[in-house]
Amino acid sequence: MSWGKFEIGNVKPSSKNADFFKFTTGEHLIRIASNIQFEKIHWIEKMPFECTGDKNCKYCRTGDKPKNQYKFIVINRADDLAETMTCGQQFAEAIEEIAISINKDTKGEYSLFDFDIKAKKSGTGMDTKYSASVPIGAKPIKFTSEEIEMINNLKSIKTEEKEDKKLYDEFDGVE
Ligand SMILES: [Zn+2]
Repeated sequence: MSWGKFEIGNVKPSSKNADFFKFTTGEHLIRIASNIQFEKIHWIEKMPFECTGDKNCKYCRTGDKPKNQYKFIVINRADDLAETMTCGQQFAEAIEEIAISINKDTKGEYSLFDFDIKAKKSGTGMDTKYSASVPIGAKPIKFTSEEIEMINNLKSIKTEEKEDKKLYDEFDGVE
């Protein structure tokens, strides 16, 4: 899965709880503000722990199965603050479709990162659905310098990219 290229840098491995986007039922206007990262997460007593993906993972050794998760940075238009967002396969694929269609419709002039996106959560439990769309008549908007500063504060240093790439490569094409 690829959403196209963004600036170098990935989401910090551990962000403060307050920095996380809360995907509540309903519609949210967001701006995708980083590339996408794939992770495997163990949920132990409602707390997330990153799976190392090999036999040294202490959570795998207890028999717990890790769950797939995607992570990226967004600007939440509810308060115009940068937040870390996590999601599953369904929403990540919806965003990927948008990325592809924006590229196609604008002949490469614009990308996913130039438009606000409407993110929608509906249903409950096993019937929960996640979708995404570009609002009708949406115009491309540039990030402000304040937004770029907030985004960079949620990013980690460049050297962590290699490891993330490895996780991503392993995952690509499996599901
Ligand atoms: Zn594990």
